[in-house]
Amino acid sequence: MEPIIRAKNIKKYFKVPSGNLLAVDDISFDIFEGETLGLVGESGCGKSTAGRTVIRLYEPTGGELFFKDKDVFKMNKRELHDVRKDFQMIFQDPYASLNPRMTVLDIVAEPLDVHGIPANSKERYERVIQLLDRVGLSEEHAMRFPHEFSGGQRQRVGIARSLATEPKFIVCDEPISALDVSIQAQVVNLLQDLQDEMGLTYLFIAHDLSMVRYISDRVAVMYLGKFMELAESEELYNNPMHPYTKALLSAIPVPDPAIQRARKRIMLEGDVPSPINVKPGCRFVERCSYAKDICRSESPEFKEYSTGHFVACHLTEEIN
Ligand code: SF4
Repeated sequence: MEPIIRAKNIKKYFKVPSGNLLAVDDISFDIFEGETLGLVGESGCGKSTAGRTVIRLYEPTGGELFFKDKDVFKMNKRELHDVRKDFQMIFQDPYASLNPRMTVLDIVAEPLDVHGIPANSKERYERVIQLLDRVGLSEEHAMRFPHEFSGGQRQRVGIARSLATEPKFIVCDEPISALDVSIQAQVVNLLQDLQDEMGLTYLFIAHDLSMVRYISDRVAVMYLGKFMELAESEELYNNPMHPYTKALLSAIPVPDPAIQRARKRIMLEGDVPSPINVKPGCRFVERCSYAKDICRSESPEFKEYSTGHFVACHLTEEIN
């Protein structure tokens, strides 16, 4: 299968008074058509910035992003406008991402209007009703305002809006983190159904590994702007190789009490360090219990250790 997205050496730095903030620092990955790639890490690791840079909501500092063999990072304004039909985003906070002064009809129709898709207001209305129906809402919701909806319903409105232009690729930026636990599964199921029906490809960003396990075909683990590990979902959960992934996974309770008792809990002390003026060497060194001298001086290569299983750690063979 050919990848629909090929990201090569993507960088996004921000200038700050004390230097450079390395939010995303040289990450590469492919996403195949109809696939979900999960992107996981603690807050401040750069995952949301990576998602926004990939669809050029942020201007990249460097790298290449191929969508159907065209480099999106090199596109001019006109080409970018056209490709935006195929790229959409679902935001984390359904409360903040919908304009409170617009009706649901206008919110969902906005991307259609931007691309001049509906020929007239009747077609525009009918298209919005179809989209609302697709996400489990109905015509009676069309003339209401966002404050009249629950969190789960607002996220459905956000999803309907993201589907309006029939995109190919959607960045889902923590789309369920702000929702009640009881609603989260419904939204995940809806995203999966839509993927099956429409052949969508997702980059699914989350801070919690347990959340992405079931929705993702493959999962990438990010720390301080870099990928630490990437593998097929089940492989990553059953055979984590990077110390950071091991620590994240050890914090997730397992239903089987025997396995839970046998498992060693690895404590992750402190928060993700500042991404400003990052020192050479492994990004995880300050929190890694395996660290050696080489980890402080040389940045580990992101290497494939078994088919499709990539790890960035000097000691992968030693500790696995
Ligand atoms: Fe730990 Fe060193 Fe591996 Fe980094 S390279 S994760 S510091 S062992």
